[in-house]
Amino acid sequence: MPPIALILFGSPGSGKGTQSRLVGERCLPGPHISTGDMLRAHIEAGDTIGAEIQGLMKSGRLVPDELVNRLVEKRLSQPDARGGVILDGYPRTVAQAAEVRRMLGLGGMLPVVVHLVVDYDRIVARLSGRRQCPVCGTLYSLSTNPPKVPGVCDLDGATLVTREDDQEEVIRERLGEYDRQTRPILDYFSRDGIEVVEVNGADADPASISQRICAALENAHSQQGPGGCL
Ligand code: ADP
Repeated sequence: MPPIALILFGSPGSGKGTQSRLVGERCLPGPHISTGDMLRAHIEAGDTIGAEIQGLMKSGRLVPDELVNRLVEKRLSQPDARGGVILDGYPRTVAQAAEVRRMLGLGGMLPVVVHLVVDYDRIVARLSGRRQCPVCGTLYSLSTNPPKVPGVCDLDGATLVTREDDQEEVIRERLGEYDRQTRPILDYFSRDGIEVVEVNGADADPASISQRICAALENAHSQQGPGGCL
């Protein structure tokens, strides 16, 4: 069976980060590749890439395809990515989608696209109440999944932070970018014969949603003949 590359697709705040972690624990033990986390790490490191992208990310705009494609290709070439990966926040444009098909094809990986569907009002509420641990990356929600002690990570005691781009105005811009640049990938996939599995990302608790995603992965695997391709 070819290794699976789960492409977790969905608007900002649809739960891609949370689901990446849960699905990784439950059924797909490859690395969680989040382009947002990779880009933020460059900003924190204060390197040249970080300086180039800081303004764009702060205002909720996408960073250039070429740069993101390069980072993902490098990450996918590492040995731990050979057995399967979870892609979170990538691809985000049609040009990136074409690139990821090429990269996964080279690695003999089976792309499985899961679209986490959540309506916009809920997304704005979710994102504005979101807090993250800067050390281990755990996400909290002030309304549905608050930390035990306010402002402190349950796992390592670090002080939680609000992402700079989780302010309402920037959230709207990110959703605009999603509509303009990311949503059209769905048409691209369907024209290309790549199935997109829709999963409701709002009507159940995160653990049940991860169960649905794992079922979709199992289904995709079982539809495969040995060595076949989607
Ligand atoms: P969210 O999905 O909630 O917006 P991410 O952490 O995935 O959060 O992304 C945060 C920001 O990082 C985006 O608004 C964008 O500026 C940048 N980014 C992340 N992934 C990509 C990508 N694949 N292409 C271009 N920009 C990206």
